[in-house]
Amino acid sequence: MKLLEDRIRRDGTVEDGDVLKVDSFLNHQMDVELFAQMGEEWARLYAGEGVSKILTIEASGIGIACIAAQAFQAPVVFAKKGRSKNLAGDVYTTQVESFTHGRVYDIMVSKRFLLPTDRVLILDDFLANGAALQGLIRLVEQAGATLVGAGVAVEKAFQPGGALIRSMGVRVESLARVKSMSPEGGVQFC
Ligand code: 5GP
Repeated sequence: MKLLEDRIRRDGTVEDGDVLKVDSFLNHQMDVELFAQMGEEWARLYAGEGVSKILTIEASGIGIACIAAQAFQAPVVFAKKGRSKNLAGDVYTTQVESFTHGRVYDIMVSKRFLLPTDRVLILDDFLANGAALQGLIRLVEQAGATLVGAGVAVEKAFQPGGALIRSMGVRVESLARVKSMSPEGGVQFC
């Protein structure tokens, strides 16, 4: 999606350690107009798939998913991180290794909000090693729901996540695919 690529070229910065910083428009300050257009694009790509629920993960997926979901007229469910008294008992849960924080944490979704009849589209901000998406996919499987596919804003295609998730037979639609990046040379897209 050219709009997102142009924005990354203009406002993104590359940090050491393969981290693309996009906090001025994607995951700290949020450009909701851009999110709406991203939602339109995912809705075009997944048209006719009967998406009944959008699933994302806190925190940075929530803003994107909420705005994008308006193009699907479907509710958003976000997986919560860590143990929560509110959710004790009737939850689907799994573990995820964080790319940015380098530690393992629990994620969970209440069984009330993912049903076997649901057709689920997973949305998230980044796809790097694929751990976050794999965790969300496991929650969908636990629920016995149908996974329609995944939409990510930025796929770092030089990391293994995209190939891994696609090799599982899951459709992944990334709106910007980064081929390579460096603090000196900036970002190159596929
Ligand atoms: P994965 O689980 O695919 O390795 O990483 C996905 C998660 O890590 C995303 O939800 C995102 O929060 C974070 N992440 C991965 N790579 C980057 C990056 O280059 N920049 C930022 N800002 N977050 C990233």
